[in-house]
Amino acid sequence: MVCKKCKQEPVFALASGEKLCKKCFNSYIEKKFRKTIRKCELIEKGDRIAVALSGGKDSSVLLKLMHSIWAQRKDFQLFAILIDEGISGYRPLTTKFAQNLCKKLGIKLYVYSFKKELGYTLDQMVRELKKGPCTICGTFRRYLLNKKARELKANKIAFGHNADDEAQSIVMNLFRSNNDAAARLGVINGIKRDPRFIPRIKPLYFLLEKEITAYAYLNNLLGVFKECPYTALAYRGQVRDMLNDFESRHPGTKTGVLSAFLELLPLLKDKFRTEGEIAYCKYCKEPTTTDECMACKLLAELKRKK
Ligand code: SF4
Ligand SMILES: [Zn+2]
Ligand SMILES: [Zn+2]
Repeated sequence: MVCKKCKQEPVFALASGEKLCKKCFNSYIEKKFRKTIRKCELIEKGDRIAVALSGGKDSSVLLKLMHSIWAQRKDFQLFAILIDEGISGYRPLTTKFAQNLCKKLGIKLYVYSFKKELGYTLDQMVRELKKGPCTICGTFRRYLLNKKARELKANKIAFGHNADDEAQSIVMNLFRSNNDAAARLGVINGIKRDPRFIPRIKPLYFLLEKEITAYAYLNNLLGVFKECPYTALAYRGQVRDMLNDFESRHPGTKTGVLSAFLELLPLLKDKFRTEGEIAYCKYCKEPTTTDECMACKLLAELKRKK
């Protein structure tokens, strides 16, 4: 069997069964990426976009694709932020890969660590707090990314979330009956606008994880092929395995979850847009829904345990 388009040797089979060679597969990914940017109006003239880079395959692919658009347009600014959570044996390797990638592409990288900004590494927090590692990690990573991107005058943060990530979030919110969180999903995150919240965009939204992995492999962006040691403990990991199992037996499951959800999303956003006001944390002044943000609550708990 040869590539359907140019008769070269194929390297990837799409969900439809169509097989593509390296050149045609790269062009398929790049076209799909550009279509999402165009249709969802993710990049506008004058934007200053911070790419949330971890050094993993998704954010590395995102940075490379965003850079290729920038190189053509040059009517927006691009830089990267990496949050070093302090996960021993894992984050130092991906940080090195991210630094090399930014150097190669000529993109400015800002690195902030949990330890320096908050006083504790994630490993220390996990030992002290009786909470799931990903809950702690996600809370502080979102907190720091928003704060630092705002300080660096970004008006958007680009995330490497792919179709698999989004399908998992949709199912997780459904299982936990968390419509409020579901309403914040989508290609552009969030429901309410506030100058302290930097909108988050997800240009890889319609690309499957296996497509991104193949693209990363074919373009030397795979870097350190190592998973975070806390992944195994995550609820998300169980949902991921379940969806992968369904996808292998019923191809199209993930895109089905995504498209059904996207039809409902405008209704969810409308419902939650009017509920509750955005408040400011009485301690750190960051935006939150109550008078004390989750980051400050967790930090207070850590101080009590000292
Ligand atoms: S798997 Fe969990 S702990 Fe590890 S980087 Fe992701 S969110 Fe953080
Ligand atoms: Zn081809
Ligand atoms: Zn706070």
